[in-house]
Amino acid sequence: MDLFNGALPEDKRERNKNPMIGPFDTGLPEAKCKSCKYLLRVSTPSRRMFSKCELRGVTRGKGTDHSMYYDACLEYKERD
Ligand code: SF4
Repeated sequence: MDLFNGALPEDKRERNKNPMIGPFDTGLPEAKCKSCKYLLRVSTPSRRMFSKCELRGVTRGKGTDHSMYYDACLEYKERD
């Protein structure tokens, strides 16, 4: 039985969806997280760099790593 009648996309955009975008929202595909003021770049003592979303939460684990190439969520604020 196919609940979605074959309409559920299996494309790259769906698999790489921003976790800050709810399951029924599309976010703002015309903007990316990399230009949002809430995107943080954090570094480790070994100088590796990671992106984190300040609104999503920041931990030292990879569970909160956040791609700067995600489509922006509805909280997007352009960086000054
Ligand atoms: S657009 Fe949303 S998810 Fe992306 S960095 Fe800004 S607040 Fe976070």
